[in-house]
Amino acid sequence: MKIHEYQAKELFRKYHVSVPDGFVAFSVFEALVAYDRLNVGTAVVKAQIHAGGRGKGGGIKLAHSRDEVKEFASQILGMNLVTHQTGPEGKEVQRILIESGIDIARELYAGIVLDRAKSQFAFMVSTEGGVEIEKVAAETPEKIIKEWIDPDIGLTEIQARNLAEALSLSGKQIDSAVVIFTALWTLFSENDCSLVEINPLVVTTDNDVMALDAKMNFDDNGLFRHQELLDYRDVSEEDPAELEAGKFNLNYIKLDGNVGCMVNGAGLAMGTMDIIKLYGGEPANFLDVGGVANPKTVANGFKIILSDPNVKSILINIFGGIVRCDRVAQGVIDAMETMEVNVPVIIRLEGTNSKQARELLEKSPLEFLVATSLADAAKKAVVSAIGGAQ
Ligand code: GDP
Ligand code: MG
Repeated sequence: MKIHEYQAKELFRKYHVSVPDGFVAFSVFEALVAYDRLNVGTAVVKAQIHAGGRGKGGGIKLAHSRDEVKEFASQILGMNLVTHQTGPEGKEVQRILIESGIDIARELYAGIVLDRAKSQFAFMVSTEGGVEIEKVAAETPEKIIKEWIDPDIGLTEIQARNLAEALSLSGKQIDSAVVIFTALWTLFSENDCSLVEINPLVVTTDNDVMALDAKMNFDDNGLFRHQELLDYRDVSEEDPAELEAGKFNLNYIKLDGNVGCMVNGAGLAMGTMDIIKLYGGEPANFLDVGGVANPKTVANGFKIILSDPNVKSILINIFGGIVRCDRVAQGVIDAMETMEVNVPVIIRLEGTNSKQARELLEKSPLEFLVATSLADAAKKAVVSAIGGAQ
């Protein structure tokens, strides 16, 4: 689960990670009330969406007066904000953060992620803050300094100090950074986070160190332990097809390709995506319909796959272990009779009763491409998608 910057900053405050004062606003009126409450000259108007790169996209503006707050709030609220993380379709801004403006001396970076390969957490800092950290990692990886955290031990005082020193901080700044890094680790571990990022972490002209931006992702598997965090969920920021799939208990992840996939079992679903790529295609989604692929789950799966306009062919790949292939075939036929499926459907059914399944599909007046093997199925799906795209 992702949350908004203003919500992450609320948690930052709770854990004593220093952040500027600020209030969320859902309207221009609320933005002006927030500005009056802040009682400052310069304020920052910040679009709240679940994506970074807002500054470059025009979603962050420095306002030097009440009139400018009004102007920028009207501009940003309701705008379609396009950043490198939203994709070309952008994201509508429904809330903004009004924050005290800070005089920045230096922009740094700090973040914690899980390093799966090492089974430890990586605490990363860089002097190159305020810019895309992915770019720094790709072009000048030596500018990212890391400390690995053993989850049983946590971030040690020495590690926190090493990180602060790597940022060429001095005197009081080092102590402030150590406090922030230690608090950030506590926040991360106590809330089962998968990512916490401060970009930029700034040194102010007054020599303070504070988090100007805040990004937090939570491990969904740990959310049951944090009921209070669920209030932070903003479903309008989530992919509508993924939300819908969640309601049907289907594991669906939208991808960028054009070959829709309906598969039973997560491993087989991943194998199916691999083989589509092997034959030069791109999967449009990951979809695991689970062990019980009955007519209802198949129909729901079709609905979700077809809600993606990029889909040009659908590959159904079912292995009949517990589930019988003839039942799945009947499910596909029933589902397709009740809805309009206007892209080629390629079916590969293997396992229990696969022969009966093939006979059912062949007898049906509906048009399927029945594949003889997984390789054959993938080839047919890729070729159909190319044909359908023309
Ligand atoms: P992002 O573009 O989505 O990562 O949003 P950020 O919150 O990181 O803001 C982008 C940039 O806006 C920062 O790197 C700063 O340069 C600038 N910025 C944000 N808040 C302030 C502020 O209070 N004062 C000044 N001078 N600049 C700010
Ligand atoms: Mg940022």
